[in-house]
Amino acid sequence: MSNNINLLELVSACIDLAEQSGDIIRDVFKSGSLGVQMKAEDDPMTKADLLSQQHIIGGLNNVFKDLIIVGEESCEIPPSTTIPNIHKLDTQKDNLPQQFQSLDPKDLIIFIDPLDATREFTLGRVHCVMTLIGISFKGKPIAGVIYQPFVDKEGHESTREESDKWTGRTVWAIVGMPVESVQDKRAPEDKDKVIIVTTASHYTQKIEESIKKINPDKVIKTGGAGYKTLMVIENRADVYVFPSVGSKLWDICAPHAILLAVGGTLTDPFGKDILYSTDPSLIENKNGIVITTGNHKKYIDLLNK
Ligand code: AMP
Ligand code: MG
Ligand code: MG
Repeated sequence: MSNNINLLELVSACIDLAEQSGDIIRDVFKSGSLGVQMKAEDDPMTKADLLSQQHIIGGLNNVFKDLIIVGEESCEIPPSTTIPNIHKLDTQKDNLPQQFQSLDPKDLIIFIDPLDATREFTLGRVHCVMTLIGISFKGKPIAGVIYQPFVDKEGHESTREESDKWTGRTVWAIVGMPVESVQDKRAPEDKDKVIIVTTASHYTQKIEESIKKINPDKVIKTGGAGYKTLMVIENRADVYVFPSVGSKLWDICAPHAILLAVGGTLTDPFGKDILYSTDPSLIENKNGIVITTGNHKKYIDLLNK
């Protein structure tokens, strides 16, 4: 019997599970007991990262057979009773590109970052935190789900003192379908500026040199690969520059799919495409990443001059 998958049903399940993981992440944060462990120097993991990944993979495995899943955390997946809703997006059926209606699971890889921006999470800078679930097909991203637990439904950020406003926001996209959940958030005073967004936690001399080559009007340093990509998608920044080793495929698959759906581009700093694969030697984006929604070649040329 065929185990072929309808992409809308898979994305619906991912949205449901990411939103439930958001409840788990908020609960761990509010408990004040994060259970921080260091996976490597400068690479923390908390109880929330672990529980979120277990919840998502357990739920997906209960509904979809033969899915290939790459999650950030190395952990056992305990038996799960969660059955995610595969019908949340049924009203979109007519918009689903025909080639995504019945996909062989062998051609799909699901990349899960159960909690992006863990370092910021441990420091209480929770507005950057997101759950990222990306779906690749034959090496390219085709769908992405982002859930932000610590913002409101429009993505407005608020402090810990206003935690009742943390109702959470979902952003999802399938390449080739209209994207409804993002907005143009350019501040009027930034209209004609060139704005770079880059890492706050992993800043290096090389990043400094790259920024000088672009000569921007403004540099924003903040946490999380998902958060920074969303800043570019929503036009709060023009280019996300991270020409260094550190990010992995699970950091970029979901944001990359949403970026593609709005017409943006993600490459390495030499303009080379990323291949989404389970090959362990390709999991790390060794050269780094550059993300734009326009003028991509101009920025790549500047970085390589
Ligand atoms: P950053 O922009 O520094 O917040 O990094 C974005 C995301 O990439 C982080 O949330 C991590 O998931 C990942 N990352 C980047 N650099 C590193 C690193 N040196 N070690 C581990 N993870 C990293
Ligand atoms: Mg991450
Ligand atoms: Mg993570």
